[in-house]
Amino acid sequence: MEIRKSGARPSSKGPADWFTGTVRTDGPFNGSGKLSGVTVTFEPGARTAWHTHPLGQTLLVVSGLGRVQREGGPVKEIRPGDIVWFEPGERHWHGAAPECAMSHIAIAEMQDGSAVTWMEKVADDDYLGAPEA
Ligand code: MN
Repeated sequence: MEIRKSGARPSSKGPADWFTGTVRTDGPFNGSGKLSGVTVTFEPGARTAWHTHPLGQTLLVVSGLGRVQREGGPVKEIRPGDIVWFEPGERHWHGAAPECAMSHIAIAEMQDGSAVTWMEKVADDDYLGAPEA
């Protein structure tokens, strides 16, 4: 057993190549080595770029109000307690609502040492469309 104390690692800023707006990551964890997990906090309007996960991804929404979209689908609202699953290879993005921050825990398994493939930024027109509940 290992307890890594809160604050043992500093918070990090989400890289501008992969995120729009202000994003903070905290508490990355790797389990036995095949797991990739992190808490991600998006300021209002912030979101990931489009991306895929080779073995899928689970999001546990912790606080705030957020948005997700898979390619070809509507923008959907996500709230604390919601659990989102993206299929392996499913192109998607996730982020905060335009006027409200959102924090989620993101968990994915790695394939060949990678848990994500990043693509282009999400256009404002796609992000700002009226979401479905
Ligand atoms: Mn994702």
